[in-house]
Amino acid sequence: MERKKLNEYYKNKFGKDFPSSTLSKWVKEGRVKAIKKDNGLYDYDFESFKEIVDSPKYITALKATKSKPEDYIGKVKGQLLIKGIVPIKERKEKDYKGTIMYCDCLACGKQNVQVRFSYLTDNGNYHQESCGCLRKQRAFLASSRNDLTLEHLIPF
Ligand SMILES: [Zn+2]
Repeated sequence: MERKKLNEYYKNKFGKDFPSSTLSKWVKEGRVKAIKKDNGLYDYDFESFKEIVDSPKYITALKATKSKPEDYIGKVKGQLLIKGIVPIKERKEKDYKGTIMYCDCLACGKQNVQVRFSYLTDNGNYHQESCGCLRKQRAFLASSRNDLTLEHLIPF
């Protein structure tokens, strides 16, 4: 199949052109099969192309590249209310290159907790649901005696 046809499929699905550099990369990596024809053009295997762009992994990754920290302000993820971007000067994780957000923890009321933006999006492998208080609660309950309840956990 011609590149044009692949692009048509892609455009219908995602509303934008498929980057030709990505196609070359996939062909090089052997993820999309392609045969060079006598006229110098490539004949691409549509099925292997479709398999990649239809995969949930690809769709999630594509969405992730689109997500901007600004779009998350005012939203709630788990128990975290996202309030804004932490200015460089105020960042606690000085070596971290990504964006860090200010959040309020709705579970315990702690304010201006700094949370990595990637922990708040759906693309990362790790999700943060609270300032850490829910994790402490769970660890406490898992490690403690059966007769202890949350009431024994003093806020700190
Ligand atoms: Zn909390």
